[in-house]
Amino acid sequence: MALVQCEGIVLKTHALGDTSLIVVVYTREHGLIKLVAKAARKSPSRFGYALEPLSRSRFIVYLKTDRDLHLLSQAEVLEPTGSRLADLARLAHGQAALELIDRLVWGEEPHAELFDLLAATLRGIAAAPLATLPALTLALQLQVASLLGYRPRLDACAGCGAAFSPRRLFSAARGGLVCDRCAATEPGTITLSADALGGLALLLSRPVGEAGQWIALGEVRRAGEILRVVEAFLRQHFQRFQGLRSLEVLRSLPGPDATKDAPCPA
Ligand SMILES: [Zn+2]
Repeated sequence: MALVQCEGIVLKTHALGDTSLIVVVYTREHGLIKLVAKAARKSPSRFGYALEPLSRSRFIVYLKTDRDLHLLSQAEVLEPTGSRLADLARLAHGQAALELIDRLVWGEEPHAELFDLLAATLRGIAAAPLATLPALTLALQLQVASLLGYRPRLDACAGCGAAFSPRRLFSAARGGLVCDRCAATEPGTITLSADALGGLALLLSRPVGEAGQWIALGEVRRAGEILRVVEAFLRQHFQRFQGLRSLEVLRSLPGPDATKDAPCPA
């Protein structure tokens, strides 16, 4: 057992006994870990906002190797993001981001880039214009998949490496654009407009906090197309993607035939 200091983002908490909490934290140094916070539910809590979901905090932990639960010694909040999200739409996107990490990430494997991506997304969700939040959430989904080893191929055929079809056919099963020959053997390809392909490439490659600048999801047709592709792709590669809240917040975008601007989901 070692006493270690780490930085993490609180994903969720569960009650433990009468006064304690189990806190699930995505840390930069140790990946996803579960902490026992003794007496955390006594008020006033000695931990303040540090154990609130969405908070980025510094923890001092008795880390036990080969154990599922670790004992929390101290916690200090660095960014109390949850307390700053007064808006229901921001809260929904923030919780969707937490859920995505909780569901897709396994075990105590640290991944600093993934941690930074989540932290940047939460900062974006707290500050970006409301209308750009769906773009942020889509960018997060695509970039999390990439960091976990599933980057959609958009520069050549994902099946054979030849030039992709000028019809811009996306195959979730092949993991990207395909050529006409590969498309012939692959049912269920999605045809993308040039705009949607451009938007997809930007969401994948640019900083997540700037996603709203690159793709205005007020352009509803393009947003709907991108959403279909991202959803099909993630469903194909992550079984645990089924039934995620992050899908629900995006589904409240209007369909391709809507004429009004995309409202923010509440
Ligand atoms: Zn091919």
